[in-house]
Amino acid sequence: MMKPWKFVTLSCASWCWFCTSLAYAFEPSVQKITDTVYAIVGEIDQRSAENQGLNNTTGFIITKAGVVLVGSGATAGSAKMLETAVKQVTAQPIIQVLNIGVQDHHWMGNHYFLAQNIPVSALAKTIENQKQQTNANRLRLSNALGIQPDALKVEYASETFAGEEKTLEIGGVELSLRYLGDAHFPGDAVLWLPKEKIVLTGDLVFNDRMLGILPEISKLKDWQLSFKKLAELTPEQVIPGHGYPSNWATAQKNTGDYLDWLVQNVGKSLEDMEDLGDAVKRLSADQTFSFLQLAEDLHGKNIHQAYLQLESQ
Ligand SMILES: [Zn+2]
Repeated sequence: MMKPWKFVTLSCASWCWFCTSLAYAFEPSVQKITDTVYAIVGEIDQRSAENQGLNNTTGFIITKAGVVLVGSGATAGSAKMLETAVKQVTAQPIIQVLNIGVQDHHWMGNHYFLAQNIPVSALAKTIENQKQQTNANRLRLSNALGIQPDALKVEYASETFAGEEKTLEIGGVELSLRYLGDAHFPGDAVLWLPKEKIVLTGDLVFNDRMLGILPEISKLKDWQLSFKKLAELTPEQVIPGHGYPSNWATAQKNTGDYLDWLVQNVGKSLEDMEDLGDAVKRLSADQTFSFLQLAEDLHGKNIHQAYLQLESQ
């Protein structure tokens, strides 16, 4: 039998190894948008233990006062990946983290930055929905990472902004947090840089891979409307919530056109009183968006969800 002291020694050693390692096989890529704005592109595929849930894209802004990091990753491991990505580009410290998303990988790494006394800020609407989605986020993420839900530490932003818009001026850069309506998750927001005409869209835009209409969470028509409001900002460059940075036309093609396609085609199917099974079968065969990664997994599910939602409206 193992002596109790031996057990304690082993646990401590394992824990210390965990604390200091935080090193994973996956490394996000850093892409320069301007001299002071960078995207951090996570895995285009699904979440995994290797990518620590960082299958999303985020970014950072270098200001005269320090670095503003948008998003905190899903876990301490992916928060560390973001921190390392910033260090590849600048020696300036991260002085502020902003949360613009509600899905796990946009904010569940908050504790990593809060532990370093770096403030984390978000719109009230975003935090309110993060709170509502915490348990569901925990379950899905722990499943993907192969760990227990309780192992995921959750901390909300240390600073809350009331209202649906908040403009900050940090180190000479104007940053505008905006809630434009619900998207992939309720409470999703964007960060607009009006002078640079760059938008960090969070989960309003999926590039390169197909977006997912999540049961009970993503509301197709709300998302379509929020996307149209985002277009009204006339951004020149887009740092999406998933996939690679792009111009607006690409974001329109990969996300806006697909949302419109779902609303139009599934809507028509309902008008024609086609039943659910037939609609999913017929429309799943359409190849218009098969150029997007994960289309094979998600397109049929999206049509199914779209049908249920549009039918009940
Ligand atoms: Zn996401």
